[in-house]
Amino acid sequence: MTAVPAVPIVGDEVGAVESRDDIAARLHAMLISRRAEEAEQLGLLGTARDSTDFDEHAEIAATVATETLREIERALARFEDGTYGTCELCGEVIPLERLEVIPESTTCVNCARTR
Ligand SMILES: [Zn+2]
Repeated sequence: MTAVPAVPIVGDEVGAVESRDDIAARLHAMLISRRAEEAEQLGLLGTARDSTDFDEHAEIAATVATETLREIERALARFEDGTYGTCELCGEVIPLERLEVIPESTTCVNCARTR
């Protein structure tokens, strides 16, 4: 008898190769490394802010990186409380294919579209 993972990820789509725990661990690792990437990106932009190269494009990039970082933090927090993988608006399970592409997504495709 195996313990039921707290993370409600549906693993049927990928067959029996990976358990739900494996998938959750992989997505969690992806989020951790993406958080590091975005933080580094922000750090670089922060340094550039003092230079003459800093223009509106860099400003937009910084805004996007900040927003992405916030989403990643939110997704990681949802891992903590065991709601990762479900839509924060309608409560539906977010398809695995979506999480594979955007591991920080906290809403299903439908809710993301209507937002
Ligand atoms: Zn939804």
